[in-house]
Amino acid sequence: MRRAPRRADAEPAVSRCVVCSRPLRPDEAHRTACHRCEHHIRAWLRELPLQLPILEVFLHPSAPRPGTGRPGPGGRPAPPVRADVLNLLGPGAGRPDDGPDGDQSGPRPIAAVLGAWIRFIAERRPAAPPTGPQAPLHLTRWIATHIDWAVRQPWIADLHRELRDLVTHIRRITGVEPRRRPSPLPCPDCSAFALVATGWANHVDHVECAVCGRLLSPAAYEAHAIAGRTAPGPEPGPADQEVYPDDRVDDRAAHEGEEGGEKP
Ligand SMILES: [Zn+2]
Ligand SMILES: [Zn+2]
Repeated sequence: MRRAPRRADAEPAVSRCVVCSRPLRPDEAHRTACHRCEHHIRAWLRELPLQLPILEVFLHPSAPRPGTGRPGPGGRPAPPVRADVLNLLGPGAGRPDDGPDGDQSGPRPIAAVLGAWIRFIAERRPAAPPTGPQAPLHLTRWIATHIDWAVRQPWIADLHRELRDLVTHIRRITGVEPRRRPSPLPCPDCSAFALVATGWANHVDHVECAVCGRLLSPAAYEAHAIAGRTAPGPEPGPADQEVYPDDRVDDRAAHEGEEGGEKP
């Protein structure tokens, strides 16, 4: 006897972000990665070129460190070079197993990681890889222009992991990382007092809940704060609560212009 068909109104299986495993919201149903994880990828792509000049300072261990103002010892032969930094700053000639399917141990050169992803993406879109100067800023911008598409692909977790590992490694060397400040406000989603503002110097890049993963743009956080001050019950309007990266988000056109971002 045939098994009874499933009820048509049975609750559909919840899709989850392939990066963070959090359930995807209805407006993220067409994606494989959530807006929060997309935001992290974009933030790392913006950060990488900014870390490079600092990283170069660390190429020579006796070179002055940012913030110390101390010059290296003068009148001496060229100082030794840090092999790990030299490797990171090395050329982008990727090894055969570069790319999302590669299984590398140890950090690869920055240009090799970016170059492998550019080749991988360019083949699949298809798209013309960047021409002209192959400066990291040029490479990261090219990748950023394809993130709208990449967040719908099953391998987005690999890109997320490789960029996270690369940035984490560089931060460990340079000691330069975003500033994280706890917020006194409760999360608009889960009400936990676990919001943390992350940014550089006095600029807030985003505010994130450490409990539920809710991500607020600076403007949405400001609206949340104003609503909390003016209303007896903090109930910001839905539009003010929306969460999305602060640069290009294809399916959030209504919020364009909230904060400038890189454009292709
Ligand atoms: Zn996610
Ligand atoms: Zn929360």
